[in-house]
Amino acid sequence: MMQVAGKAGAVLRIDLRAIQDNYRLLQELLGTVQCGAAVKADAYGLGVVPVAQALLAASCRHFFVAHLQEAIVLRPHLPKDATIYVMHGSPVGYEEEFLENQCIPVLNSLEQIKSWQQLVAKAQRALPAILQFDTGMARMGLSVIESEALFATPQLLDGINVQYMMSHLVSAEDQANPFNQKQLTTFNTLRARMPACKASLSNSSGIFLGKDFHFDLARPGAALYGVAPVAGQANPMRAVAYLQGRIIQTREIPAGTGVGYGSTWRSSQTTRIATVGVGYADGWMRSLSNRGIAHIAGQAVPMVGNVSMDTITLDVTGIAAEHLQPGALVELISADNTVDQVAARANTIGYEILTSLGGRYERTYSN
Ligand SMILES: *Cc1c(COP(=O)(O)O)cnc(C)c1O
Repeated sequence: MMQVAGKAGAVLRIDLRAIQDNYRLLQELLGTVQCGAAVKADAYGLGVVPVAQALLAASCRHFFVAHLQEAIVLRPHLPKDATIYVMHGSPVGYEEEFLENQCIPVLNSLEQIKSWQQLVAKAQRALPAILQFDTGMARMGLSVIESEALFATPQLLDGINVQYMMSHLVSAEDQANPFNQKQLTTFNTLRARMPACKASLSNSSGIFLGKDFHFDLARPGAALYGVAPVAGQANPMRAVAYLQGRIIQTREIPAGTGVGYGSTWRSSQTTRIATVGVGYADGWMRSLSNRGIAHIAGQAVPMVGNVSMDTITLDVTGIAAEHLQPGALVELISADNTVDQVAARANTIGYEILTSLGGRYERTYSN
């Protein structure tokens, strides 16, 4: 129970078996539709190489990153039959690196399509790409006007082997939101213009909107990593990330003592404070100041005072001394306090909690 040794302020355990189970659950929901995986942002902060390899072992063959640089890092760790798609497409002038690193761009604009075609001309062979359309996000992909220009001039796609047409959902976690259906309709209208092309629409939450949203390939990220895919419903995914912080020291303070920067919390009685080696530099967000909780021996304890760069302070009054020795671990992300629950207290979403997890943790991977 008590673990005293350890050089890092906290231990982050990542359950690769849970990621595989989550992948299998999503693949089951998708039936014969392929399940890919978004592994951008270092697999949502969990470590892209071990995570991608675990997904590979669970039969995943389609991996999505945001930037070319992420694909270059991942490529040597995956076999040839695994495909890496770069969702931001090619930065101007870097098209050839897609061939050198065997990854496929998502083309988001007529400019990106033209640049890719120039590479086709140079390579003198057809080259693969995904084509993204904007169906309501107003963030990436061909606008309706650009797509009309494309359909009016189909030779713009000569030599481009369009593997999938894709779009991205705005509010898929909110199943009652009519915008989901609106985007689906827009996407189907676009598909009618390229009827032979395979399609990809759903992120994690989109998979739970039903078969109409599945098409040929899904691109889940967050649900693989344990984040709840459907707002207001029980989370069917297994938890993946577990964070335990180490107690550095404890102290007893009299009533009326301020704790931490700015003394934003003050004791109303004699109080025992434990200082734990996790702070906002580790992604334990400052917005958790006076709002976060931890668990010690199954008991919830409140975070008091402001989160510092390297530490947090807990009110551990009433917790048995045996659990409070220097080096003892307290639960920060656990079954009792999930990523989504931490996010709610920090006034953010589980995605941001995961991708903020810092580089100073002792990381362990279990499978
Ligand atoms: C991040 C991302 C995904 C994965 O989304 P989740 O909500 O994490 O499942 C899929 N598609 C695109 C275009 C993305 O940017």
